[in-house]
Amino acid sequence: MKFGKTFEKTLQDEHIPESWLSSSIRYKLLKKQINKVVDEINELGLSDSIKSDNHQYIYKFTTEDNGIIEPKLYEIKANDDDKYDDEIKELKSIEISNSNAKINHEIILQKDKDFFQDLFNQYNQLNKFMRLEEKDLESKICNFAIIIKSLLENNKQKDIKIWREIFNQYIDFKLDLNSKFNLKNFENFLNHLNSTKLINGLKRDNLKIFESFYQLNYSLLKFLTFKKLNNLAIKKIIKKFDKHTSLKSSPNLTRLINSYHGNELSLISPMTIEQIISTDIIKLIPQLDDYLCPICFNIAYKPIRLRCSHFFCVRCLVKLQRQNESKCPICREFNVMDATEQNLDEQLMKFMTTNFPKEVKMKRRINDKEITDETLENLGYDRLSALDDSKLKQFNELSQTLLEKKTAELTTQLSLFKSILLSFFEQNKDTIAKNSELKLKLFQVCRNLNIDPLIILDKSTDFNQFYYELGLKIIEFNDFQGNIKYGGLIPIKEILLSINENLDNKIKQDDLQISIDLLKVLNEEIDIITLNNQKYIKLLQISLSSDKVELLKIVNEIGHISISILRDNLNWNIIKCKEVLNELVSNGYLWIDKGNKGEVLYWDPSWINRF
Ligand SMILES: [Zn+2]
Ligand SMILES: [Zn+2]
Repeated sequence: MKFGKTFEKTLQDEHIPESWLSSSIRYKLLKKQINKVVDEINELGLSDSIKSDNHQYIYKFTTEDNGIIEPKLYEIKANDDDKYDDEIKELKSIEISNSNAKINHEIILQKDKDFFQDLFNQYNQLNKFMRLEEKDLESKICNFAIIIKSLLENNKQKDIKIWREIFNQYIDFKLDLNSKFNLKNFENFLNHLNSTKLINGLKRDNLKIFESFYQLNYSLLKFLTFKKLNNLAIKKIIKKFDKHTSLKSSPNLTRLINSYHGNELSLISPMTIEQIISTDIIKLIPQLDDYLCPICFNIAYKPIRLRCSHFFCVRCLVKLQRQNESKCPICREFNVMDATEQNLDEQLMKFMTTNFPKEVKMKRRINDKEITDETLENLGYDRLSALDDSKLKQFNELSQTLLEKKTAELTTQLSLFKSILLSFFEQNKDTIAKNSELKLKLFQVCRNLNIDPLIILDKSTDFNQFYYELGLKIIEFNDFQGNIKYGGLIPIKEILLSINENLDNKIKQDDLQISIDLLKVLNEEIDIITLNNQKYIKLLQISLSSDKVELLKIVNEIGHISISILRDNLNWNIIKCKEVLNELVSNGYLWIDKGNKGEVLYWDPSWINRF
């Protein structure tokens, strides 16, 4: 298809508004004028000599006094005459290099002047129109930016989240790049948004905003298409002119147009309009990508800004310093070792907390975990081999060490350690359930850390131990507050409230009943009774001495007890040991194991069942 037709068809296909078309380049008209120039050249009998290599011609443009630019054709001839004007003198010095002096003889043409005059007029009109459109688009972009800014100023986090996601996709589709900003890509972007249901979920206000964002992009795309098509039409028509007339206008014309752009007539702003969308709108909503630490790719929370203005998260920077890595990983400036807490960019930190609260929270958790891991590692503990038996000993020792050093600093670490232990327990539940030895050891660690055993015990798999611990709690409650406060009658409601305080799996009245049935072995008086429609635990005459409780605590930890263990741990004399042990054995609470060489061991029956 000839370009003239293609040009008109494309303008139509791209739905270029009717009102724009009058400002478009009139390609067909200009083509007709080229024919007239060709006719004129033929009439002057010049067509052959212009085409032939034997003749030299110069085709250039001069600006007349009235500002009109005119083409001029000169034929270069050997110089036998010194009478040429100043302008030709000047030309001579530029164009003629050999020693044989030559003269430029002007050939007067009219139709080419008509053609170029028309072309320039159309070009100027087009530019004027484009400039107005550009201004209009700029103000639309500006208005849109105000809407987005108001979301930010009013801290509409929900809306900001939506727009962050939309703009994120916009960037993913590279619509912020000039080379990818085209209709096809924009439609792909829209299709994607539709498929993610992001658009369908938009509420009234955001839908309105989205519509204007859509319109804005759409108008801009049309504007750019129109501009591109017309530029192409200009290029094509000049090429056609040169081809048909054999006059070489393009080199000088290109120079002329370029100089046109250099002066105040220039229409091309330093930043092209499609860039304005990305810088003035898309960049308004902070994107996480711009705030990532280039080392760990998490949000660079707490951001340490180096002298070179690059920033990293404090953890990564600390690691760099420990490794004596003194160069900024991005620009290689020697400044890493100079960084102190003075380099913390507090403003940026605040900004991150406001705009990316979720990511900041996660990063803080990662940092906390890392710090604890490092502490454990320094103490010879390796998190991955927690299931390794020998490591468990260290685990236990470590917990004791931490307990002993109850400095403020260690308290934080201890609570972290506790939470790690609990999550470790949670994650390895199945493994631990199958390995009673491991369980026992972990259980000891928990005791050392004052972790409520009811948190880690499982009613269904640790039936006896669980209800035994619950029984101890009932007695403890009575010892510490019940006896004085309630006079030996503890309201069920109160005790459940106290016991359940830190438990996720809440204890119920039925559970208390099971424990009390177990405690009955130790003291028949203990029971649940109802008074005035309220349930109480009766501990009125309970004679379970604190001695027995102490002893049972040890049995519960290690599964068995012996006289020497009692002496070592509780400083009891042998008589007291035997007395208490015999009573518990006679009540069926402990089983005697004489099979072991050496000392007699007293076993908790629930433990024996496990082996
Ligand atoms: Zn980092
Ligand atoms: Zn740097």
